[in-house]
Amino acid sequence: MSDCIFCKIASGEAKARIVLDEEDLLAFLDLNPQAPTHVLIVPRKHIASLSDAGPEDGALLGRIQLAAAKIAAQLGIGDGFRLVANNGRKAGQAVDHVHYHLLGGRRLLWPPG
Ligand code: AMP
Ligand code: ZN
Repeated sequence: MSDCIFCKIASGEAKARIVLDEEDLLAFLDLNPQAPTHVLIVPRKHIASLSDAGPEDGALLGRIQLAAAKIAAQLGIGDGFRLVANNGRKAGQAVDHVHYHLLGGRRLLWPPG
């Protein structure tokens, strides 16, 4: 999608601090970190939200979870991290391209609020 910031990062048109670059997914540092480690993991494919994902996206979304655990281990937060996907405005989704927040490096509270 031409006006989507995460599509632009995926195509290289917009800059980001990339931590993992794979054929079908990308991970980069969040511009406004909410924890000492805050990475966003996105599919290269534009999917507006999890509500818009279909059965054909299942393997891709599963690979994102596996990538999250790999990145967490590489960044030294493998012993405690959180993976969050905000879905819809009411849940705080601001960017309409599926993304998972990988957070760690501090004590994470529950419930998240
Ligand atoms: P959400 O509120 O779940 O949609 O999360 C969107 C996240 O994207 C926020 O944490 C923003 O800080 C982050 N963000 C927005 N634009 C960029 C960008 N160009 N590079 C990195 N992170 C971004
Ligand atoms: Zn997009």
